Amino acid sequence: MAARVLDGKAIAADFLMALKERSASVAERLGRQPHLVAVLVGDDPASRVYVRNKERAAEKADVRSTLLTLPSSTSETDLVSRLQALNVDPKVDGVLVQLPLPKGIHEPAILRAVSPDKDVDCFHPLNVGLLAEGSPFLLPCTPAAVLEILRRSNVPLEGANVVVVGRSNIVGKPLALLLIQKEVGATVTVCHTQTRNLAEEVRRGDVVVAAAGRAGLITAEMLKPGAVVIDVGTNRGADGRLVGDVDFQAAVDVASAISPVPGGVGPMTCALVVRNTVEAAARRAGFKAAS
Ligand code: NAD
Repeated sequence: MAARVLDGKAIAADFLMALKERSASVAERLGRQPHLVAVLVGDDPASRVYVRNKERAAEKADVRSTLLTLPSSTSETDLVSRLQALNVDPKVDGVLVQLPLPKGIHEPAILRAVSPDKDVDCFHPLNVGLLAEGSPFLLPCTPAAVLEILRRSNVPLEGANVVVVGRSNIVGKPLALLLIQKEVGATVTVCHTQTRNLAEEVRRGDVVVAAAGRAGLITAEMLKPGAVVIDVGTNRGADGRLVGDVDFQAAVDVASAISPVPGGVGPMTCALVVRNTVEAAARRAGFKAAS
């Protein structure tokens, strides 16, 4: 039987619709809408699309968004001072710097320059530390998107073997931290380029999350029959189309549920950026954190 396709677009639409209520109460207390500022340096077309998608998601939850575009010639010092200005602007709740940055700008320095209170991507070391400690303020967007898709699709995670392929600071590593939290309770294996036998590891997964950025890396033969597959990868196929890391056409016959690319994790990641903006604004307004 073909796998259930986990429609990230529909899940994100429901999520954003529900978020409107929280956004409205925060707006009432602040006397203005929660406000996200996206900073785009240079003119990378893919980055433009990603930022646009985040702006669209913000609109759906009545969150204001502003795009600050800077030329690719912007120096690291200039960018840091722009961020410092946003950090102290009382009308800005969330700040994100779209990656990748032009060559010559040291990414970690920029990610540390965003105030932890407005760090809607959850890349600042303080927020990463809070997550590792088990008391996160904002959640890392793509990992939280994966978790939200699994939860809303009623995939049991407590005690489940979850195999994460990829160990980046943006996806694999923070996802592993989220999954091992007591409230989630998964048993996690993190695979990477030095993993000896990827197929053997993946086959143990009740849930497999592919976040390697390699088209076709996860084949149907690697999967345990009935596994739930979440494909985070976004790769350009030979024909220019967006494809994930999983061989979707074949995997759909082995998995019990699978998220597509596009239309899976991507829309939900944008929704999580918006939720973090609302939560950052909520904290500013003196609200308790949402559960
Ligand atoms: P990255 O390049 O920083 O990390 C990739 C990881 O995969 C590395 O840890 C590496 O060890 C591992 N890996 C690579 N090849 C492998 C192989 N052959 N076997 C085992 N492990 C391997 O990438 P990233 O930033 O984590 O992103 C991963 C993918 O997810 C990319 O395609 C990216 O575009 C996509 N992504 C999508 C979203 C979204 O919202 N949909 C968000 C972030 C990233």
